[in-house]
Amino acid sequence: MAQSIEGTCGGCGRTKSLQIKYREEYGKKTALCPNCGFHNSLKRIGGIVVGTKLIELEAPRTYASKENAVKAVEKKYGDWPVELRYIVYRNEEGRYFPVFIGYEAIREGVHFHFNVLG
Ligand SMILES: [Zn+2]
Repeated sequence: MAQSIEGTCGGCGRTKSLQIKYREEYGKKTALCPNCGFHNSLKRIGGIVVGTKLIELEAPRTYASKENAVKAVEKKYGDWPVELRYIVYRNEEGRYFPVFIGYEAIREGVHFHFNVLG
């Protein structure tokens, strides 16, 4: 079933139930007016559009190798009483840094030392 959104069309000015569709030619979703065929930008018609958000990770400290990043984590949290999950991320410069995942890491204050994603 097609998603739709109530909005005033920028083409014909009518308030309509506009059909949200992914448009290959625009490279994004638009709200198609069934009355005049105008493609409305979802933002313009005031739709709540969350979509996606690219988060670029930056670390205050990076490591030359994955092993070194793991070592840094082990040094700080190797014997921690709570299991802290993390991945090692490789940035565009080819440097490595740990990225912790989940609520436990936030609760344990890991974000003061390393990147944490909730
Ligand atoms: Zn229209």
